[in-house]
Amino acid sequence: MSIVKIKDLTFKTFIPEAEIQQRVKAVAEKINRDLDGKNPLLLAVLNGSFIFAADLIRHITIPCEISFVKLASYQGTTSTGEIKEVIGLNEDLAGRTVVIVEDIIDTGLTMKRMIESLGTRNPASIHICSLLVKPDKLQVPLNIEYVAMEIPNDFIVGYGLDYDQQGRQLRDIYTVIDP
Ligand code: 5GP
Repeated sequence: MSIVKIKDLTFKTFIPEAEIQQRVKAVAEKINRDLDGKNPLLLAVLNGSFIFAADLIRHITIPCEISFVKLASYQGTTSTGEIKEVIGLNEDLAGRTVVIVEDIIDTGLTMKRMIESLGTRNPASIHICSLLVKPDKLQVPLNIEYVAMEIPNDFIVGYGLDYDQQGRQLRDIYTVIDP
């Protein structure tokens, strides 16, 4: 087990690189089986999913395309007080099979918002692919078809995920140790 310190928090190895790679390959193989002939458009949500998306697409053997979007948060007047807007999307989604590629689904509110936003652009279908899911924290029903790993509620970093913008380059996934 290795320990890393990022700013005020200490983390320990949680999912080693080799296991991540195995799980990512298995997700890609399921996409290969399910979406053959559909030329899916992977929409990877920056920043957290950049490493996952890069590894995932290299195991996808069917014709596919990839593009990257960001979510801009701003304060609004909804009940949650926060509205997230999808930015940077230049592709025409009409009639496309879209696979949203996320790093982690926690409450699921971000993903719900993405689906609502992309749904207005008339895609043929929208599928969810997430590296990690915290099932105990989910607040909204989501059909998560492609998930590499389910994890407990602890805060994690590495493999693209950050703590205050640090730690994204860690090859393994780390979980926080109680101070
Ligand atoms: P949700 O809307 O599902 O609650 O939040 C999803 C977003 O929260 C993720 O895209 C990610 O940015 C952030 N997030 C949730 N849990 C974690 C975690 O354990 N570690 C990191 N680094 N980010 C997380």
